[in-house]
Amino acid sequence: MTILSDTLTGARSLLTGMKVTLKHCFRPPVTSQYPREKLEMSKAYRNVIVLVEVEGLGSHDCIDCNACVRVCPSDCIVIEGERPEGLKRKRATLFEVDFALCSECGLCLDVCPTDTLGYSREYDQAGYQRADFLYDLIEPWREGEEACRERLREAEAEKAATRAAAKKAAAAKKAAEMDGAGQSDA
Ligand code: SF4
Ligand code: SF4
Repeated sequence: MTILSDTLTGARSLLTGMKVTLKHCFRPPVTSQYPREKLEMSKAYRNVIVLVEVEGLGSHDCIDCNACVRVCPSDCIVIEGERPEGLKRKRATLFEVDFALCSECGLCLDVCPTDTLGYSREYDQAGYQRADFLYDLIEPWREGEEACRERLREAEAEKAATRAAAKKAAAAKKAAEMDGAGQSDA
């Protein structure tokens, strides 16, 4: 009697399980086959900080001012930079962030005077050791750096020419006014 009862209970349990499995076979999946399948993140999604392209520059615009380094509560940013020949502002040559320490608080974004910091939309960072979380944010921009410096030199030369032309026009106007005043006195 016990054997029969146990068998019936087991069969009922098996059928219940199969019913649930069958039901879910025809429902849309609620999980994804990561990493074979990549998900589209929502618009509000944000992850680790990155150097973003600044309009008209074709590159980042980190000027090695160190404002982000000073404000960072996790003390996880190290920046090096240099003043390229023919440019007034510096350019960062290294922007190392230890993402094992970064809390993604966003304070560095708030203080950046050139708005060149943003959040990435990556979501699959993983590593086996601390060194895997040390990122140089300049790396993706390194190849285009010379072209960017050239564009900056051209922009600075254009600005200087505009300033010189305006100064010359103002001096000519002043001279003409003084001439006019001298003639009316005579
Ligand atoms: S997001 Fe916050 S913790 Fe991370 S680097 Fe910027 S200031 Fe530091
Ligand atoms: S605050 Fe902005 S411009 Fe200044 S060092 Fe940081 S990223 Fe570069």
